[in-house]
Amino acid sequence: MALVKAQCTKCGAILDVDEKNDADICPSCGAPYIVENAIHLYKTNNSGVNPVFDTNPAMPPKAEAEPVSTEQFKTVVKDPEAEKQKDLKLFLGVMIPVVIVAMIAIIILLKAYY
Ligand SMILES: [Zn+2]
Repeated sequence: MALVKAQCTKCGAILDVDEKNDADICPSCGAPYIVENAIHLYKTNNSGVNPVFDTNPAMPPKAEAEPVSTEQFKTVVKDPEAEKQKDLKLFLGVMIPVVIVAMIAIIILLKAYY
């Protein structure tokens, strides 16, 4: 877990964020923000040069002025339930063929002995 400096895209509070997260909630104002945007905002505001958004297509000023919508936030935050389902599917995907192969092997062995 690597914490990096970032800045809330809504209230401008300086935050320590985990780079691995896609989005987080600002502890200062409670607004959700995109981690990548917040880190970029911090770097831009603390790099010693005036922010020039027009020359940076990756960070248009429009994206900064608008708070992250709830809908956007939902899509970037990993749903723990969805993650669990993925794990379950992976588990079943491995277990079912293994069980089938094991059952076939048992049937073949039983037929060979009786
Ligand atoms: Zn904030």
